[in-house]
Amino acid sequence: MKLSIGHLYPELFNLYGDRGNVRCLLKRLQWRGIEAEVIPLAAGEKVDFNGLDILCWGGGSDRGQEMAAGYLKEIRKDFKAYVEEDGVVLAVCAAYQLLGNYYRTEKKTIEGLGILDICTQWKPGRLVGNAVLESPLFSTPVVGFENHGGRTEIGDHTPLGRVLFGHGNTGNSGYEGLVYKNLFATYLHGPLLPKNPEVCDGLLERALKRKYGKEIELEPLSDIPEYRANRNIVERYTPPGSRHI
Ligand code: GLN
Repeated sequence: MKLSIGHLYPELFNLYGDRGNVRCLLKRLQWRGIEAEVIPLAAGEKVDFNGLDILCWGGGSDRGQEMAAGYLKEIRKDFKAYVEEDGVVLAVCAAYQLLGNYYRTEKKTIEGLGILDICTQWKPGRLVGNAVLESPLFSTPVVGFENHGGRTEIGDHTPLGRVLFGHGNTGNSGYEGLVYKNLFATYLHGPLLPKNPEVCDGLLERALKRKYGKEIELEPLSDIPEYRANRNIVERYTPPGSRHI
């Protein structure tokens, strides 16, 4: 077995250590003896989506998003086909916004890929801080760190989770991120995956299932420091009564 992990525009989208998500996916495969490779995909390069099993795309500044918009047009069609054909994607913050129709900043409107029918509007007052979610997809709370000026309306899409602490998609919707097919989009940095091994393994299992056409159960790892880090954030920010998981 071998998985290929694409890292989209790493030079423009790597805020708050989002590159750590790529490292985490790779390590958790290697620890189980599963071969994996990381393919950095530079802006302007042709992207072969057929050769990818997972695509990671991280957070970035408004400026970086504006710079990427032109390059994204070139890969839009193939990217959309990949998502519709159940390709696995982790999109964080700026990437989440750019998967939608547009991100309207204070000064201009940055056109998105339109793969998700969502819209993002900048508003004064950044939404910053630690966040804790409960998600029906995972038995442990999802924790992370958010820092965004954009507010994202997700319409009829399914959110990734309910906000137990933090701001989430708009600051007042009560929900964070979204899940569409095998695409997870979220405002959570951290990086996200090292502190949420269940989310990481969820992505890996989806990628293995898509590639090999059957459920492949991943060998459990001890994950003691990972869950200690997760628990630390949960206990610091959410009173026991507010958690259902
Ligand atoms: N530039 C976007 C915003 O401020 C995304 C920031 C990020 O990726 N953290 O909303």
